[in-house]
Amino acid sequence: GCTIGIVGGGQLGRMSAMAAARLGYRVHILNPAETGPASEVSASVTVGAYDDPEALRDFASRCDVVTFEFENISAEGLALLAEHRPVRPAGSILSISQDRIVEKTRLSKIGIRLAPWMAVSGPDDLTRLTEIGFPLILKTTRFGYDGKGQFRVADEAALAGLQDLPYPLVAERMVDFERELSVMVVRGMDGTVRCFDTVENRHRDGILDITLAPAPVMPDLAVEAQQIASKIATELGLVGIMGVEMFHAADGSLLVNEIAPRPHNSGHWTMDACLIDQFEMHIRAVAGLPLPHARRHSDAVMHNLIGPQDMERVPAILAADGMALHLYGKNEARPGRKMGHVNTLFPRGALPGELALESLLPA
Ligand code: ATP
Ligand code: MG
Ligand code: MG
Repeated sequence: GCTIGIVGGGQLGRMSAMAAARLGYRVHILNPAETGPASEVSASVTVGAYDDPEALRDFASRCDVVTFEFENISAEGLALLAEHRPVRPAGSILSISQDRIVEKTRLSKIGIRLAPWMAVSGPDDLTRLTEIGFPLILKTTRFGYDGKGQFRVADEAALAGLQDLPYPLVAERMVDFERELSVMVVRGMDGTVRCFDTVENRHRDGILDITLAPAPVMPDLAVEAQQIASKIATELGLVGIMGVEMFHAADGSLLVNEIAPRPHNSGHWTMDACLIDQFEMHIRAVAGLPLPHARRHSDAVMHNLIGPQDMERVPAILAADGMALHLYGKNEARPGRKMGHVNTLFPRGALPGELALESLLPA
């Protein structure tokens, strides 16, 4: 049998491993910690740092193909893995998504629309920010997630108050958005591209809170979002799944925020609302299997369960009808930590309206 190697031991690795197991594959994990969400459901684990050549070699030797749930592996690490095994998606794609400046430069080059942006390599560049306009947002170029490493700047006066910023940064104009949308796109070894339905994402404290599937937008816009995601997947030669985050701007345009070439939190709704979910699609692509259409059989609302407060809701969620609970097996519920998610299903066309949405998750 074939063994699929997954770099990273978090919940995305856990759910990828479960999908791989269902297709009859063995899974081998690379994880710096002894235990973790993915390790607990996997046949075997290499415990070692992501930049440790010995750990990477050991990991690669135990699998037939390598994929990721953790994106921030070094260029050297990626090269080392590629020497030993096929790496899908390719390291060249990870090196694009790892760095916001590389990402924006590349996306612009292939004709993808973005919010106005500028590289800010040091304090001297701050004075040039008036060129992109206010309000704006400064982001660290690497390692940011859940809105960490971001600084919002309302106007020129606020800019003057900023000190000791963690350069290099990228500055982006704040988009006055109608909605945040995303598309999960998967591309196979033979170039087949499939998109799950365009969804709407709402954030709380910089962390994804809920996903509405499908996004309550006009069909043309939803299709346009899928076309953008497909174009990126094809142009980058993706093999595997990728999340493409977008803003539906107030002027009607779609602007790409960022890409994530891996299963993505905004695709968790597919686990219960699609026959073949994002994790199985990813494993199929990585293993060279055919990709069926990414069909949605139901509408869904996905709620993230964050930190100790949301874990208190678990008993009520378990007792509720029409809700599928997914817990990641994390032993410590620290504030801001993603502990699990809940998918609430509805017949197609019957997503709840705004008011009903607010009280959907039982307290
Ligand atoms: P993720 O966990 O999705 O990887 P991240 O730390 O990479 O998050 P972003 O996705 O860039 O950060 O930003 C987090 C959120 O902040 C966005 O989903 C959006 O709500 C808001 N945001 C980021 N950039 C902008 C922008 N240019 N205009 C308006 N809102 C923005
Ligand atoms: Mg991000
Ligand atoms: Mg994001």
